[in-house]
Amino acid sequence: AGSLQGGHSLSEPSARHYSSEPSLQATEENGFKGHSMLAPFTAGWQSTDVHPLVIERSEGSYVYDSNGKKYIDALAGLWCTALGGNEPRLVKAATEQLNKLPFYHSFWNRTTKPSLDLANDILSMFTAREMGKVFFTNSGSEANDSQVKLVWYYNNALGRPDKKKFIARSKSYHGSTLIAASLSGLPALHQKFDLPAPFVLHTDCPHYWRFRLPDETEEEFSTRLANNLENLVLKEGPETIAAFIAEPVMGAGGVILPPKTYFEKIQAVLKKYDILLIADEVITAFGRLGTMFGCDMYNIKPDLVSIAKALSSAYMPIGAILVSPEITDVIYSQSNKLETLKIYKERNIVEHVNKIAPRFQEGIKAFSGSPIVGEIRGLGLILGTEFVDNKSPNDPFPAEWGVGSIFGAECEKRGMLIRVAGDSIMLSPPLIMTPNEVEEIISKFGDALKATEERIVELK
Ligand code: PLP
Repeated sequence: AGSLQGGHSLSEPSARHYSSEPSLQATEENGFKGHSMLAPFTAGWQSTDVHPLVIERSEGSYVYDSNGKKYIDALAGLWCTALGGNEPRLVKAATEQLNKLPFYHSFWNRTTKPSLDLANDILSMFTAREMGKVFFTNSGSEANDSQVKLVWYYNNALGRPDKKKFIARSKSYHGSTLIAASLSGLPALHQKFDLPAPFVLHTDCPHYWRFRLPDETEEEFSTRLANNLENLVLKEGPETIAAFIAEPVMGAGGVILPPKTYFEKIQAVLKKYDILLIADEVITAFGRLGTMFGCDMYNIKPDLVSIAKALSSAYMPIGAILVSPEITDVIYSQSNKLETLKIYKERNIVEHVNKIAPRFQEGIKAFSGSPIVGEIRGLGLILGTEFVDNKSPNDPFPAEWGVGSIFGAECEKRGMLIRVAGDSIMLSPPLIMTPNEVEEIISKFGDALKATEERIVELK
């Protein structure tokens, strides 16, 4: 995903490639206002840039423009076409899947076999530490946006509503959507877009060559940066800092490698203050550094990982989040925490039940003396009544009289619904009942019972 970029530091050089397309050769002088596309990351949103480089086809490491000129694609698209431009196995796999099932979603516990298989494969390939689950997205930017949602959800679940801030690093690049651009530490992504969002803080860029002090060793530089991070955490309050996000090797910020001992020292600070570590492996995953993941290269033990790009060699837009088992457990613990359960707690529902239940039980049990009632039994707001002859468990009424049903019908006539099962009836009213409603049930129960008694006298 690209963003519309106002500044210059990330923009491509102004394109001056002349296309064979007549419409693209038009100029501002003859009234043409550029092509119809608002191009992302194009400085000043150059509506007058009428000569974009139009790439038409790719082959291995090469791409060809619309004039047939060949280029070696030394950025692999946008750090992404890891398997080059025309890997036939990917084309075949995509074609087969498009023919079989071009789309299905993963909402509401539905999904597809390729999604399940892919999640498994990703988990088995990531070995820097054990991860628990994979959440799919459409891009790296969306993966990082989703990280924020997930971390907030996690801290809410743990009852830590204030632990919501994110620390990222100057010169980092985490994507182009609002949150991912906020996390990014590149001024061009913030200026003119009212970013970064207020919950995002930035700490030092770990660029030893540029930012070291005179005579400072790489290790000392790393120690200083870890101390700065700790000071930032302490200044903000550790209880407000949710996560730290870092690319193992910074890509778009200029390919900046972490100095010696950097991640070791940073991870110690994060651990000390219970701050989650998100590894943004959108560029580094799947072999770019010579290890399968950047986390392997730098001994990073992340809680969450973002991947995208090489995940499909960019042949289709896809990203993902890897979630640690610990975070997965917390997320799962929420799956039964329904709104209902919250309300039970908020309204002290058990206390309420205990307040109204005695009158409910005693009011109905007062009818125990009825000649057709064998037993009235119950507790709290649950109650059963059994109709028998002679008040004996051994003297049922003839089944064809349907005494229970008569009682049920008499209740219904009076505007009360109950459960009937043979000559047993059951009550289980809402727990929110008011004392008046309890009285209503008692009174209707009594009236229905009286009417049932009269019917039985007739039947006898
Ligand atoms: N994170 C990093 C480290 C990136 O380099 C990029 C893109 O270059 C992204 C996230 C955003 O990924 P996408 O372009 O798929 O949205």
